[in-house]
This record gives sequence, structure tokens and C-alpha cells, in this order.
Amino acid sequence: MTLRIYDTRAGKKVPFEPLTPGRVGMYSCGITVYDLCHVGHGRKEVAFDVIARYLRASGYAVNYVRNVTDIDDKIIRKAEAEKRTAAEVAHEFTEKMNADFRALDVLPADHEPHATDHIAEVIEIIQRLEARGLAYAAGGDVYFSVPGFAPYGRLSGQHIDDLRSGARIEVDEHKKSPLDFALWKGAKPGEPFWESPWGNGRPGWHIECSGMAHRYLGEPFDIHGGGADLIFPHHENEIAQSEGAFGEGQFARHWIHSGMVNFGGEKMSKSLGNFVTIRKVAETYDLEALRLHLIGVHYRSPVAFTIAHDDKGHARYPEIDEAEARLAYYYRTLDRLAEAPGEDDGGAVVAPADKTITSFNDAMDDDFNTAAAIGQLSEAFLLANKLLDDPKAAAKDVRRRTLARLRKDLAACGAALGIFQRPSAAFLEGYRLRLCGRRGIDPAAVEARIVERSEARKAKDFTRGDEIRRTLQEIGVELMDTPAGTTWRVTEPR
Ligand SMILES: [Zn+2]
Repeated sequence: MTLRIYDTRAGKKVPFEPLTPGRVGMYSCGITVYDLCHVGHGRKEVAFDVIARYLRASGYAVNYVRNVTDIDDKIIRKAEAEKRTAAEVAHEFTEKMNADFRALDVLPADHEPHATDHIAEVIEIIQRLEARGLAYAAGGDVYFSVPGFAPYGRLSGQHIDDLRSGARIEVDEHKKSPLDFALWKGAKPGEPFWESPWGNGRPGWHIECSGMAHRYLGEPFDIHGGGADLIFPHHENEIAQSEGAFGEGQFARHWIHSGMVNFGGEKMSKSLGNFVTIRKVAETYDLEALRLHLIGVHYRSPVAFTIAHDDKGHARYPEIDEAEARLAYYYRTLDRLAEAPGEDDGGAVVAPADKTITSFNDAMDDDFNTAAAIGQLSEAFLLANKLLDDPKAAAKDVRRRTLARLRKDLAACGAALGIFQRPSAAFLEGYRLRLCGRRGIDPAAVEARIVERSEARKAKDFTRGDEIRRTLQEIGVELMDTPAGTTWRVTEPR
């Protein structure tokens, strides 16, 4: 199967063929760095991280560009309020954003350009637009003339006349049309500024992306992405600027948009004040669980995120509880698979272990359907556990080979999704401690009881040994006797 992607402009799934065989240029709009990132930001980053990972796993050389908007009204306002410079605010939140993305296993993009480092590209594009009669200076600002760009509205499926009649009449005497938007904003007293042919000022938000895409990808390039809330006006305006400056068709060939996080029946959004930061989730959960939850839904569909409070009043996120338990099951299985002897010599295996990779790729080739792809992995995990639990489930050599195949294929698919990439013990130990904390279990006391039990058993006092096992079970601790000694885990609350 070849890769098909849902192109927002086409309004349907289309076969993906890159401009240059084997290479993909991709741009996605990054964060405006004036505050901590929330789960909605995380969803978009994880979605495009998976797309970049999967394209690479499919053999493409990917040039992925994700910008940082480090100058903006919101940054300036925050800096004024805190008596800092805009650059200080932007720097602080860029660092925090990077740390949050790392914790979510989002790989760095190939280029992470900052808007303020690309003023020259912005000026170049505005000059091209001016030369083509698509930009005009007025009152210290420079505007894009929307009525001069006939294809305006095509991405969002709107017609320019309807947009005009529906436009709010803004108090801005300089704009020739209410649809026109700022390319360059003249500096007000005290604001940071850069020099330009139109006076001191700074770029508008939309033009930055045209400038940075121009610098790192050139025209045209394969994929432009972002959250669905950027389709209009941000992406519509990017198209107008870049195609206005470089010619029709000289910008992104495909548009991909990720869906929103549905939080309490509304879009999770900073501006609506309806959000939970990634850091807040990390206080209670392993962020890999958040990542698994986010990719458990197709990237274009809304993903649910709800909040509940436990009896101590601590915030809990039921979907993340569930994802964390599922991840623990994956890691426990991988841990057992790692211990299973045997190599894969390519011979016959128990079905469906022969099809893990093909089924996974088929799902991902269908517009990066991670939900279906994870469903395929679940089949593989189910089979692994069946074979691990029952040594007689298949002939000895077939069983060993199948387990080796599953071990290898699950690792490869996990890498393409950016999940279960750590040593199992690293996740499972942390998970056990978190469950202990949530259920008020003292790990040291459990360890002491285990020592007590093994002493009782050594002294052949099996009644006492069983009693200890039972009392631990009652508080949610399950003991596992292995040749290497007794281990334990906290059972997941149901
Ligand atoms: Zn953008």
C-alpha cells in the first residue's frame, strides 16, 4: 500500500508523492513562547513527531522544520508586566517548551528557527509583495492586500466575497479592506524593534512562517502542517504571502491539520483559559502515558481529556490512568519477551506474528492511522502473552521463533510511534512507585514483609507465608515468585 494523506485543501485523502523521490520537506507551525505548553500543544507536537518518525521509518529523508514564534504581542505584554525584555520571556519559555517536548519523546526537528533570526527573509518577501502590488505601507505598518490575491480562502473553503461581507469592521483606518492583515507592525514606544525599509518594527505573525519556510525548504515543498485552529486565518494568510511573492503553486503542496483536545466539552486552549499544562500532568504521570493516549486517537479526530479528583483532592486524568496501565502491560510483556530465549531464523511463526509489520504499515499508510496501528500491536501483545503463559501453545522451535519475531517487530513499530523505547524496568519501577503513592502503600514496608515471608517459607511455615501474601494482596500488592527471588507489583485499581 502506498501512503495516502488527508489534504485539507483537497478535502480528501490523496496519494502522497514527494516532489523529489525519497525526500520530504515538512513545515509545522510551532509555539508562541510566552507561557508553559499545555496538553493541546503536546497533541499537535506528538502528531507531527509521529508523522516525521513514520516517514523516516518508511525510508524517506525528511527535512522537518518547526519554528518558534519568539516575538508577538503576547510576549511583549508579558515582558512589560514582568519588567523583563521580550527576549528574556521568549528564552525562558523556549527552554521550558523544549524540556516538555523531550519529556513527551518528541524528537527535535531538523530546523527549529526563531522568528527574530529571520527578519531579512521577512523583509525580502514583503518587498516582493510590494513589487507585485500585493502589499502597501500605511501608518507605519505594512499590510497584505487580500482582494489582490484571487485564490484567497481556498484552503479553508471560503470565498473571498463571503469573507468580506462577514468580516468584522475593525477600528483600523489604515486598512484598505477589512480582510487585509499586517505583514510588518511599526514599533510603538518601548517595544522591541528591527529596522526595515518601512521604519522600525517587527514582523506580523503570519509572515514569519513564510520567511522561515522560504529559508529552510524553498518553494515549493511537500507538507505544511499545524493545529486545525490555524487553518484560518493563519495558514490562509501564509499561502497568500508565499504564493503572492513566489507565484501560484509555489508553497506547500499538501496541508495536514491535527485535531483539538476536547477538555470539558471545549477545545483546550490557553486563550479560553481552558487548559492543563504538560508539566501538571507530569506531576502525577509518566508522560509516555500522555503520549500513548494522544496517539491512541487518529490525529485529525478530537481527543478526550478529562479531569477528576481523588479523595485527597489531587487532580487525576482518567484517560491517562488508563493509558498508563496499558503502557505497563506493554512494558511487562516486552520485559518477558526480552527474557525469552530464541532467535528469528525467518521460518514459520504462529499467526498473526507473520503480519505485524505489514498490518502496522497498512494502518499508518492510511493517513497515519495510529489508532488502527496500535490496535494491530495489541494483537501482537496478546499473542506474545499467550505464548509466554503457555509453553505448550506451539511446537518449541515455532514458539521460540515467534517470540523472537514479536520482540523484533514490536520494537520497530514502537520506534515509529515513539513509544516503549525505554528499558522496561525504567518504566515499571517508576510506575510501581507512582501506584504506591496513589494507594498509600509504603514500598519499604512491602519489602520487609517479603523478607519476613521468605524466612517463614525457609522455616517451612507455609501457613504464615500464605497469610503474608494474602494481607499484601488485600492492600493491592501482588507477589511473583521467580527463580531469582520474589518480585512484586501494585495491581491496577479497577
Ligand atoms: Zn505558521
